Amino acid sequence: MSRRTVLGSCVAAFAATALLAPNATAAPSVVQANPVADGARAQLLGFPLARGTAGLTTELAVAYTLAERAAHGAGVPLSINSGKRSRAEQAALWREGIATYGSAAAARRWVLPPNESTHVTGRAIDVAPRAGAAWLQRNGSRYGLCRTFDNEWWHFELATVPGTPCPPRVPDASVRRR
Ligand SMILES: [Zn+2]
Repeated sequence: MSRRTVLGSCVAAFAATALLAPNATAAPSVVQANPVADGARAQLLGFPLARGTAGLTTELAVAYTLAERAAHGAGVPLSINSGKRSRAEQAALWREGIATYGSAAAARRWVLPPNESTHVTGRAIDVAPRAGAAWLQRNGSRYGLCRTFDNEWWHFELATVPGTPCPPRVPDASVRRR
């Protein structure tokens, strides 16, 4: 199967999920997500992707791009501050967190090691500014996007089927979701 076909079916599946199954209750297919290797891509099959989506899973890049367009259409500023991170970048943040918070246990509330961070797997975004994040918190579930942590107003993941409610948030990143 060519790469174009793989991406095409991925987008088609996403669109079908978003448009045809608004009341579906199944878990989102983030586990089968397709990280795209070329970090510089700005378009997907002619669909211009939002800035900051390079390296994210295709599903997240498309969902966020649609959400950002709607936010901007409503006059709300919204952008990605941090999306996909390399293992080295996350390791540096993790070391910094331990230094800042004094222990790994304390640091875990705010930053995770590379092998646990959803930023490293391209499945998380940190957005800005606060008004945009608030908009995304109110409207993101239309696209499957949810704020996942009580202590991070900026952190969103693809966590529900588009058009269905977001799962309850957990207090912070140290709480493993099942
Ligand atoms: Zn984050």
